[in-house]
Amino acid sequence: MREIVRVDMGTEAITREPLPDGWARYGGRALTSALVFKEVPAESDPLGPDNKLVFAPGLFGGTSAPNGGRLSVGAKSPLTGGLKEANAGGQAAHAMGKLGIAAVVIEGKPADPSARYMLVIEADGSTKLERVDAWAGLGNYAVADAIKETRPADDRYATITNGPAGEMLLKAAGIAVSDPKNYPNRFAGRGGLGAVMGSKGLKAIVVSDKGLGYTEHADKDAFNAAVKRFANALNTHAVTGQALPTYGTNVLANIINEAGGYPTRNFSAGQFEGVENISGEKMREVTLERGGNVKHGCHTGCVIQCSRYWVDKDGHYKTKGLEYENAWSLGADCGIDDLDVIGDLDRECSDLGLDVIEMGATLAVYMASGKMAFGDGAAALAALKEIWTGTELGKTLANGAEATGLAFGVANIPVVKHQALPAYDPRSIQGIGVTYATSTQGADHTAGYSITANVLAVGGTVDPLGTEGQAALSQGLQIATGMLDALGLCIFVAFAVLDIPEAFNAIYEMAEAHTGDKWDADALTQLGKETLTYERLFNEHAGFTAADDRLPMFFLEEKLAPHDVVFTVTDEDLDSVHSFVPETAAALGIS
Ligand code: SF4
Repeated sequence: MREIVRVDMGTEAITREPLPDGWARYGGRALTSALVFKEVPAESDPLGPDNKLVFAPGLFGGTSAPNGGRLSVGAKSPLTGGLKEANAGGQAAHAMGKLGIAAVVIEGKPADPSARYMLVIEADGSTKLERVDAWAGLGNYAVADAIKETRPADDRYATITNGPAGEMLLKAAGIAVSDPKNYPNRFAGRGGLGAVMGSKGLKAIVVSDKGLGYTEHADKDAFNAAVKRFANALNTHAVTGQALPTYGTNVLANIINEAGGYPTRNFSAGQFEGVENISGEKMREVTLERGGNVKHGCHTGCVIQCSRYWVDKDGHYKTKGLEYENAWSLGADCGIDDLDVIGDLDRECSDLGLDVIEMGATLAVYMASGKMAFGDGAAALAALKEIWTGTELGKTLANGAEATGLAFGVANIPVVKHQALPAYDPRSIQGIGVTYATSTQGADHTAGYSITANVLAVGGTVDPLGTEGQAALSQGLQIATGMLDALGLCIFVAFAVLDIPEAFNAIYEMAEAHTGDKWDADALTQLGKETLTYERLFNEHAGFTAADDRLPMFFLEEKLAPHDVVFTVTDEDLDSVHSFVPETAAALGIS
């Protein structure tokens, strides 16, 4: 029986309750979004006592489902103003799942704003809040060390921590989740959820990873058989079985640059002359030379293993292996082509607890203002260091790209719903533009990753420069992503799922064998639709309209080299993406 753990930060009371009726299929993003929709007033202050911060492993959390260990974090976003879900890898979701925890809901607010708390969840299920006021202002790595001091030497546990940016309630603050070696390097980065955690006075959550083992299944043999089929499919596909394990996500740098969609110097060009120096291929070569790790899972049970560690010139751990998004945002978008500089910037962001996509885009916007030169890594690092002490510049930057662009009079600010665009230019890859514009989450590539069909010929092909089929592509992928996020599956499984029917079938076979309920393809689609419907309705209640489902005008007016294109998908097509919401809402009995 999965339970919800509620923690009231005002009274310090901790209670447990079963999942509400009708929510047995919900985990991860479905659960965080349903809970926020149901319990958080849409007009509430994101940093006030009425907002709730929800941590939920996917339905497969705690099981051996391959790549099934994502942790969803949900709340009303201080950055977008809408319902936010950001998910992270790391070990916490499996640790929670093994303890039968469906969600941890952080409510209320401490009366004393200087109070800092650590929530500790032990293997026997006992749960308590501890005061850790002395940890105020510590970076994520120092908090990880401080937590280690509180645990027995041979302990296994996972952590969820908040850096100083979150404590300062800054809107680019994300939440760190520890990887299997207890490095706090996996992030629920987007949408300012670290600021929500900071508003609750919560510095850390520690979850014992010594739970009772993988959770019970309705049909263990059928579950294990489906797991095997799913893992085989992941190992077979060229992207999940070869490209990602070999080069990590940064394998995309050369590919997207070649496609003319690699945003460079604040989205002013689609190709970066320094791409070779910051590519996945270069990163692998340098890491191997330095004796670093080039392949591991960010949580146990990951079959693909796209993670790696970035090490300094002496071979010492610096930060997680640079993801495609991180190497782009702190690299090409800022005109920086040095992996060591990017690694230093990434480490600073991680330690401060900042969303690297938002911060790279922010630094690029700041550079576009003329206050700092494109390519000046030392100045970028100095600017980030100002965030530790909360200078005026530091706080402006850590409130994100839009705040920075408005403060310094920048014309081209690449945001949708106040959130910075990730690493694909929507002019040369139009499908991702549809996702950026229409996602409930603000600009978010993971919400509907059209790069599959637009660039990689995965799951079919759709001309990246045309308008035909882009809305339907994005809609299908947004629904599918809602489903994967609800189950706790890493979205990288989608490459295999889109191309190999047995992989898709194995997902509902695992769900059915695990829960004992009847699952099929329609049930998976319905789960995705319900997840998006909660988010869409919440956003409407918060005041969002069709006008919020649009890209900034410069993407429609300024041509992008080398294809000399603008974004041309029509407003009518954008408005069609959520056509399923009224029917799904009626079926759920919500409005
Ligand atoms: S594929 Fe990469 S991001 Fe996904 S679970 Fe594995 S290591 Fe984590």
